[in-house]
Amino acid sequence: MGRLGPFTDDLLAWGLSRLREFPWRATRDPWHVLVSEVMLQQTNVGRVYPRFERFIALAPTPAACVAVPLADLLVEWQGMGYPRRCRNIQEAARVIVDRYDGVVPRDLGALMELPGIGPYTARAILAFAFGDDAAVVDTNVARVIARVHGRALKARETQEIADGMLPRGLARDWNQVIMDFGATVCDARMPSCATCPVVVHCAWRGAGEDPARTTAFTSRPQARFEGSDRQARGRLMKRLTEGSVAVTAVAEVMQLDDVVRAERLAASLVGDGLVELVDGGYRLSSTRR
Ligand code: SF4
Repeated sequence: MGRLGPFTDDLLAWGLSRLREFPWRATRDPWHVLVSEVMLQQTNVGRVYPRFERFIALAPTPAACVAVPLADLLVEWQGMGYPRRCRNIQEAARVIVDRYDGVVPRDLGALMELPGIGPYTARAILAFAFGDDAAVVDTNVARVIARVHGRALKARETQEIADGMLPRGLARDWNQVIMDFGATVCDARMPSCATCPVVVHCAWRGAGEDPARTTAFTSRPQARFEGSDRQARGRLMKRLTEGSVAVTAVAEVMQLDDVVRAERLAASLVGDGLVELVDGGYRLSSTRR
């Protein structure tokens, strides 16, 4: 563990002038950070990029988010995937308005009680919005830590190491630096060990079995999308952004031959609170919270 001090110093020295610029990095508004982090949970940066500012324009504060019909938020969400996150954002806004007078709480436990906010997102809000000493472990960070240590790590171990290497008072910069380093240098498939700025601190250095492969937090292969329930649900959600769909047309919209499966999937969207059934047709949920 002794090498982690110099590792942190060297990585900071390398990374501070190389930070990638994203709209969500230009703000310290806790609500905007919360929205961006939920968007980034399961959608890549390229797809979040154009959506983030439009979503924030529609729902600039928790109070404003509560006042917007969910259907309008879902239209803006279209193309991001996993639309339950959009509903979670509005549910979180409702809790923030009801319980915290519209102000995002600056507390790990309180943040984790918000719908759709897990330990990762809660720590990200603390670090990126409030500058608190919270180590954020995403897939990039976990991969770097496992490789530098040269062995596979459990989730708790990884978080403890990340907490231990966090330079106090620099959480915002440090988390961004190590994330960007993982994304651009210590790449999942092709790490640039030959030009790595912290190679002297790394136990693995690209030789032999990659310890990141079996480390917690690191990416697992995604389930097949083609032909999946998620694809069929996504097709219906997309069509619903243009208007209602008759119950009898759902299977066709989902491009499914199996009508029973189509009905089950449509019912699951209703159950998720994303869609409602009105007068024999489905439409995006218009519930005002
Ligand atoms: S030497 Fe290679 S594996 Fe180690 S931190 Fe650098 S890029 Fe990652």
